[in-house]
Amino acid sequence: MNNDSFAKSTEILKQAVPLMIKHKVPTTPTNYALWYTYSSQQNPQLNMALDSGIESIGHCTPTLCESLYQDHLAKQTDNDVKQLKLSLTAMMQELSHSMADTLSDTNNFHDALESTFGRLEQVGKEGISLEETVALVRELLRESQQMRQSTGLFKGQLDSAQQEIQALRAALNKSQQQANEDALTGLYNRRAFDQDIQSYLENQIPISLVLLDIDHFKYFNDEFGHLMGDQVLKMVAKRLNECCRDYAKAYRFGGEEFAILLPHKSLPSARQQAETMRKAIEKISVLDKKSGQRINSVTASFGISSSEEREHCMALIERADHFLKQAKQLGRNRVLPIS
Ligand code: GH3
Ligand code: MG
Ligand code: MG
Repeated sequence: MNNDSFAKSTEILKQAVPLMIKHKVPTTPTNYALWYTYSSQQNPQLNMALDSGIESIGHCTPTLCESLYQDHLAKQTDNDVKQLKLSLTAMMQELSHSMADTLSDTNNFHDALESTFGRLEQVGKEGISLEETVALVRELLRESQQMRQSTGLFKGQLDSAQQEIQALRAALNKSQQQANEDALTGLYNRRAFDQDIQSYLENQIPISLVLLDIDHFKYFNDEFGHLMGDQVLKMVAKRLNECCRDYAKAYRFGGEEFAILLPHKSLPSARQQAETMRKAIEKISVLDKKSGQRINSVTASFGISSSEEREHCMALIERADHFLKQAKQLGRNRVLPIS
């Protein structure tokens, strides 16, 4: 990095860090990358998305940062990896050239050349035999081959270092994503849920919570096997995700239970969205390829709560859970409270 770009990136970082503090954004590598890019104004679409996200939610949640990073920067990181590869290749070529130069200038190769040429000169003067001359040329060849081998070895080492860097970057990207992702459904996981709900409540952002539990899920496992059960879970997750609007996010709460956090949504409005989700789940149809049977009796029960001022997240979750249990008792496949 030259002085100019170093000064510039320091300048950008000086803007990014106070913004992260202001929005109480955790200082993770991906968040640094996100807010650095935001401050650099290199990516206007990202800036617009982040601005409107914060404006709509009233706060910058961990999963808002995460989803913007995935949408706007993760792909860019792929490009960065390509760029990194290109610059490493160029560096490698330059290094191996300069190494060959250096070696041939200063090292054994040079000495070998000197002495061999010296001895060759003597050929004329002292009448050295043809065999001796051929032996000298062979020696020269061997020296140059050795040189080529060691340069090749060095080049090979650089090659594998480059591959290692690429693999590490890819692994880092993946692990950052996986930390908040549920492996089976691809939804955000319980860890992300805990972070988000706490983040909303600590910042006094009014939210509604929808908790849902698949009805008689054990039956699908028992009747069609665990793998079909997994298929049902994936389908439910997909439907929930499709129903999420206006910064609402769906999470796998655990087992066959899911949660949706809806910022700035009142209880009636959350109820309406939950009703849409309930109907979407009712329409699920999964084919069991083994038996040819079709599962089309998937339903879920829903409980909703809305945050009250200065409320702890446990209280909010308990209230939704209470209504979820009531929905089960009243016959399942329904959303409670009614109003
Ligand atoms: P209810 O209507 O009262 O909720 O009945 P239920 O059968 O859905 O409830 P129960 O709690 O008895 O059973 C939940 C089952 O979900 C038990 C557990 O084996 C299953 N389960 C939890 N996680 C997974 C998973 O990742 N994959 C599969 N296939 N099954 C799971
Ligand atoms: Mg359950
Ligand atoms: Mg259940």
